[in-house]
Amino acid sequence: MSAPLTRIDPLMHATQSPASPLCAESHALPAENLLARFDRFGPRYTSYPTADRFVEAFDGRALHTAIEDRRDSWSARPVALYVHIPFCESLCYYCACNKIVTKHKERATPYLDSLFREVELWRERIGERARAGQLHLGGGTPTYLDDSQLALLIERLSSAFEFTPHAERAIEVDPRTVDRARLERLRRLGFNRISFGVQDLDPAVQEAVHRVQSEAEIAELMRAARDLRFDSINIDLIYGLPRQTPAGFARTIERIIALRPDRVALYAYAHMPQRFKPQRRIHESELPPAAHRVTMLAQAIAAFSTGGYDYVGMDHFALPQDALARAKRQGLLTRDFQGYTANPECDLIALGVSAISKLGAIYSQNHRDIEGYQEALKTGNLPVMRGIVLSRDDLVRRSIIMALMCQGEVSFESIEQAHLVDFRKAFASELQELAPFEAENLIRIEPDYLRVTELGWFFVRAIAMVFDRYVRTSVAMSPRARLI
Ligand code: SF4
Repeated sequence: MSAPLTRIDPLMHATQSPASPLCAESHALPAENLLARFDRFGPRYTSYPTADRFVEAFDGRALHTAIEDRRDSWSARPVALYVHIPFCESLCYYCACNKIVTKHKERATPYLDSLFREVELWRERIGERARAGQLHLGGGTPTYLDDSQLALLIERLSSAFEFTPHAERAIEVDPRTVDRARLERLRRLGFNRISFGVQDLDPAVQEAVHRVQSEAEIAELMRAARDLRFDSINIDLIYGLPRQTPAGFARTIERIIALRPDRVALYAYAHMPQRFKPQRRIHESELPPAAHRVTMLAQAIAAFSTGGYDYVGMDHFALPQDALARAKRQGLLTRDFQGYTANPECDLIALGVSAISKLGAIYSQNHRDIEGYQEALKTGNLPVMRGIVLSRDDLVRRSIIMALMCQGEVSFESIEQAHLVDFRKAFASELQELAPFEAENLIRIEPDYLRVTELGWFFVRAIAMVFDRYVRTSVAMSPRARLI
């Protein structure tokens, strides 16, 4: 994965209220003291409940039942596909991803064999060639695979799934593993969206995190991606890394804006060396103090805003003409395991070690270790490690949290009709707990609606957390919960 830590962001960012049209003059940017006050760890809500709530009682049989239950809908609506390639050639010290760092490229071959077996098993279980409207290759480093391996992967996926004519095909790219010629070949393989993991352009920071890539090389890759007409180019950045300073990071942001990526994901680094071994190589004395982190975030938000970018939602900025910004304006944003998307909500079939699928009211996660993943497949079973069947309470809270995160508003009536609850009665305590947010003009509690204000978009995660039953019932959120 280009920017794995990016799955962790204790801070919230800014955006426009979906109720008001995007307009540069009307941007409300949060003061540093507000950012500091609401700076808290929390889930990214790429799923609800978050993966740390999945249970091992959910096994392959439970997934099989869920697949059976969807039997009539496979042809009705295209699914999304995610493929996890866990290998990387070198270790980035901030990494919190599920990856295998090895220069032994031959290790990819048996992994791909297992992956192809998993594809076949899904095809057999579904019983037909389901349509696929999206493909996302993540990791690890998908470009660890060579061209022929990637071509074979696409071929196997295409024989099991029928890609729709305008299917979105995205790939995460480590800039150190590609050049213009390689990008051309990726384009020929059908990839139309690309995401570069940049993190920071400052050589001192790159050295401190063991991920050195020159600005000139990144600029050349950006030019090549433009020439090759990728539909959307994303750049991932991280703030809070060792040796970062507000001045240095401001320079990085300025140069990134000059490169004009269609989208930017800006994430916060969370230093948890007890949990993530690679981070033990980071010198704590080199980490920026909390006040500098807040300054870097505030500066970045202001720079992207004046640089012509719309704030899409937690972590994401996009040029106004990009599909993500358009979806935001139209109230059509959705969320999946890659973050915000402009695609309609759909089932997700996720393949590979640790990948998480979503089918209606269930989530199912594959084994997180490669051995367990491969062993399960040898027995002819889908390699399920854990998962969850959502309860009625989970479903209503998922609807509320996703509506807040994606549309910035919750209609009490639509929740009441869909879930047969009396909103004000069922969520009386949550509405009370929103009072401090209302006092700071981050949310408006209206007779029939909750509406996140323009300023409140910076804190939408904290607002959503008020409705998370698992956070509410935990004395303290587990470290794991903070990462998902
Ligand atoms: S080690 Fe691999 S997965 Fe981790 S950040 Fe680096 S490239 Fe991404």
